[in-house]
Amino acid sequence: MDIQFNAEELAFQQEVRQFFADAWDEELRAQLHGAEASPNLKAASEEWQRRLNAKGWMAPGWPVEYGGIGWSVTQHFIFNSERGKVGAPAPIPFGVTMVAPVIYTFGTEQQKARFLPRILASEDWWCQGYSEPGAGSDLASLQCKAELDGEEYVVNGSKIWTSFAQAADWIFCLVRTDNSGRKQEGISFLLIDMKTPGVTVRPIETIDGIHHLNEVFFDAVRVPVENRIGEEGKGWTYAKSLLVHERLSIAEVAESKRNLEDLREYARAEVNGGRPLLEDPLFAKRFTDIEIDLMALEYTELRVLAAAADGGDPGPESSLLKLQGTDIQQAIQELRMDVAGYYSGTLQGELSASELGHEFADGAQKLHFRGRASTIYGGSSEVQKNITAKFVLGL
Ligand SMILES: Cc1cc2nc3c(=O)[nH]c(=O)nc-3n(C[C@H](O)[C@H](O)[C@H](O)COP(=O)(O)OP(=O)(O)OC[C@H]3O[C@@H](n4cnc5c(N)ncnc54)[C@H](O)[C@@H]3O)c2cc1C
Repeated sequence: MDIQFNAEELAFQQEVRQFFADAWDEELRAQLHGAEASPNLKAASEEWQRRLNAKGWMAPGWPVEYGGIGWSVTQHFIFNSERGKVGAPAPIPFGVTMVAPVIYTFGTEQQKARFLPRILASEDWWCQGYSEPGAGSDLASLQCKAELDGEEYVVNGSKIWTSFAQAADWIFCLVRTDNSGRKQEGISFLLIDMKTPGVTVRPIETIDGIHHLNEVFFDAVRVPVENRIGEEGKGWTYAKSLLVHERLSIAEVAESKRNLEDLREYARAEVNGGRPLLEDPLFAKRFTDIEIDLMALEYTELRVLAAAADGGDPGPESSLLKLQGTDIQQAIQELRMDVAGYYSGTLQGELSASELGHEFADGAQKLHFRGRASTIYGGSSEVQKNITAKFVLGL
């Protein structure tokens, strides 16, 4: 693969750099740093996404007719590399990366016209109603039920681990419309307005102390048939296509590169036993192992994206990227916490690590705890290994 940039690509890189220099300003940076803790997360993310959208860069991967840009793989690579370098977040994925591809691939013209522009403009926030108490890895066992009553479905049941349901306007939901055949059959894909009577959200506390997870309950919730994607009973097909997009977005190569660079800078400045930490053989070995893995992941991602650009959607290879990407994220978080040591914790009393002169350590432990979930959400690592073994390696 040739990754030497030509003159046009170098000009594009300049344009991207200029955009981030102008649009990713100090104020937004402060609001979205350690974002999930911020009470302003929604407003600040919307503002950031509006700036992306104003430039036409909210959904570069969508087909051009719906608001995408038709960038080459190299342009995507340049955009994401520059985004990673300045630490700017990708848009919140549930709308733009997850449900939108399902809507433009399988939805009606009316659904496309109704939902896609609102996703681009960040007017609707979405959440994902897949998992249930008895259906996580074995997602097809889901039991949240939808019964047809005239022109409406009546939905009863619950979802769990629903990220940001507390802030969402809409939920895309897998529901069971038929119990008679194989469990993968009889699942339908519904778009449900969170304001519909009978929808209740209950928070779940997590080890990082941040409220992002919820249970969502449906008590005789009436959903118009026009909010069903595709055919009744064929939701499993649409659900799997969404998971491919979800897993690609979880690999987060640009973010990991940035986090590793931060770690390198810190280790260069931090003196340990009379020399920079970066020269400590134990540290250097851990750091270099991660760096090599990340480089390999980046090339694998580019290969997958290049293949997809030639022949349509990425396939089960997204499982491989998710698996390796989240292992690397956790390795970086763990190394950062180990290096930050005492200051990464919450034990130092009322002063934050920054106030004690250790800005690098701020939130390291919280991030480490939060990061434990990345090998679970979007499908656990064991499940990604099963998919890779079966569909990529053909075992
Ligand atoms: C932070 C976070 C955010 C999430 N956000 C959302 C969300 O927004 N929407 C949503 O719908 N869901 C969400 N989830 C749920 C997530 O998708 C599930 O937790 C995940 O699919 C695993 O399901 P489970 O928790 O039921 O675990 P289980 O399926 O019970 O798995 C338990 C363990 O068994 C292993 N295991 C299970 N089956 C197999 C197998 N066949 N082979 C080998 N090992 C196996 C798993 O790897 C795991 O280690 C989120 C989860 C987390 C942690």
